[in-house]
Amino acid sequence: MNGTVMNGTVTNGIKLNGINGVNGVHHHGTECNGVQGIIKAVKKINVNKKNKWGYSEEDGPDTWCQNYPIANGVRQSPIDIVPRNGAFDSSLKAKPFRISYKTETDVDIANTGASVKVQIKRNSGLSGGPLVGQYRLEQFHLHWGSTNDRGSEHTINGKMYAAELHLVHWNSSRYDSFAEAADKPDGLAVLGYFVKIGQEHKGFKHITDQLRHVTKSGDNIKAPGEFNPSCLVKDDTSRYWTYLGSLTTPPLYESVTWTVFDDVMEISQEQMDALRSIKNSSDCCIVNNYRPPVPCCGRRVRASFPGAAVLS
Ligand SMILES: [Zn+2]
Repeated sequence: MNGTVMNGTVTNGIKLNGINGVNGVHHHGTECNGVQGIIKAVKKINVNKKNKWGYSEEDGPDTWCQNYPIANGVRQSPIDIVPRNGAFDSSLKAKPFRISYKTETDVDIANTGASVKVQIKRNSGLSGGPLVGQYRLEQFHLHWGSTNDRGSEHTINGKMYAAELHLVHWNSSRYDSFAEAADKPDGLAVLGYFVKIGQEHKGFKHITDQLRHVTKSGDNIKAPGEFNPSCLVKDDTSRYWTYLGSLTTPPLYESVTWTVFDDVMEISQEQMDALRSIKNSSDCCIVNNYRPPVPCCGRRVRASFPGAAVLS
């Protein structure tokens, strides 16, 4: 997976490419294919590495299964989280997250054509919660809408947020690199935050202030100064949902232990507008770069806290 070609761009990771989209909230009527579909999917991915995908009607999420049959698998993401169905698991409460992110200098910010991605160079660790062993932060990126009523990938009782932040980690206890871990069942761990419009996010401003330098697909910049990704993590990490899922972009590997926090990140309208101003390879603004929820297929979603959550 090292240097997997996604949309013609060599990347070492997760989220890429996208164009203007689509997207009514639930237009994903996929079925669950089981093991056969997964085996076929893996074979096909190896053969067709240059499959173009994006978020437009022609190449958007509804079409991904043509080149990535695992799109119809039983462990796909995102999902709609229904708090009243989430089983409270007290063992999660007993094992808080331990986050040891390090300060980055000259942080790498890239316009992937599908999102903005910040690559992490130092050994920033994550453990605890639902995770076994140590994970290491690889990159973070976001998904967002064209308007503030859409943009998140996960939903809560069908409700979408304006955006969703994904902090992507790989299992450094069991694997030697992100590339090696990316397609393993316990290979990746993603922390997800819903994002709503409100106060300016002072830490995230280090990123959004640089977006005018990466307006074109493929652009990247080293942002001068220091940035610690821990500024993106809220003080209280004790309330979340967790389940086993997948990457939400091709190749859609079913390798992610998902954690979606119920604490919501706030950014200003100006910061949201900065995200919406960067362009994809068709020179259109990147918006609606999210995959809508897919079937849960009987998976258990665990909650780290009791009772139905009320989100605002
Ligand atoms: Zn993502």
